[in-house]
Amino acid sequence: MDIYGILAHPAKHSLSPAMHNAGFKALNINAEYQRFDISPENLARFIQRVRDENIKGLNVSTPHKEKVIPLLDVVDNVAMTIGAVNTIINKNGELHGTNVDFIGVQGALEEVTSIEGRSVVILGAGGAARAAVFALQKSNAAEVVILNRTIEHAKELAKEFNCKADALSSFNKYNPQIVVQATSAGMNKPKGVEIVPRENLTSEMTVMEMIYSPLMTKILKDAKEIGAKIITGDRMLLNQGFACFQIWTGEQAPRK
Ligand code: NAP
Repeated sequence: MDIYGILAHPAKHSLSPAMHNAGFKALNINAEYQRFDISPENLARFIQRVRDENIKGLNVSTPHKEKVIPLLDVVDNVAMTIGAVNTIINKNGELHGTNVDFIGVQGALEEVTSIEGRSVVILGAGGAARAAVFALQKSNAAEVVILNRTIEHAKELAKEFNCKADALSSFNKYNPQIVVQATSAGMNKPKGVEIVPRENLTSEMTVMEMIYSPLMTKILKDAKEIGAKIITGDRMLLNQGFACFQIWTGEQAPRK
């Protein structure tokens, strides 16, 4: 049986095992997707275990996405540009790293809107925001503005990708067609956290959330109530998952 898994710390909240095991079952693939909860100090030892036990593929999540890069044999240009690996493929003992989070962003947005020519505001400047900037520029968004609580982080990211940066509190200066919520504010908080004031959202916007626990975050509830289009965080998870599944198995993911 081929073994795949999620490499994270903690790993218990991940929905990836349910998603990929359902995919293996649907296509009768003799494989299992497991959880590998590995602390940062055990990362190098774990990567050696991947080699020794011929683990076929991994998703990589917080806090390992950047730290894993020097431990791999080949890292592609996409992952190097985004600065993080979220998928590892074991090709006959050689560990290859890539990043399909950007496909998750494109796929989730394209289910409800086109990206080309649209103005976009990204909330956040961490790893997920990096994948979003890459995705939106690749899909020819007209303008990408990064807003972040710590403006220096937004400026650093904007400099790398040649776009605009501002403070999160300046959201009211912009009137984007698409808002991508890529901060971790409100994650695992059922009551939610107000990341931008409700009065600054409009019904013409499409609001995409990356957090999927809870599914309806504060910004999504507000956006829905005023009539904006909303995209829940599970759509990004699913769309990046479809891409991983195809890379690992060579089969189209059974989306249904
Ligand atoms: P990260 O690198 O730790 O970045 C966190 C970002 O959130 C930073 O920009 C940080 O701002 C901001 N932030 C944190 N707390 C905040 C608060 N209370 N108010 C305002 N801003 C706050 O995390 P990440 O890897 O980018 O992940 C971000 C989120 O996306 C997480 O919830 C993660 O689960 C989710 N995600 C989902 C998917 C999916 O498939 N759906 C994929 C990847 C990530 P500062 O710079 O000021 O600290």
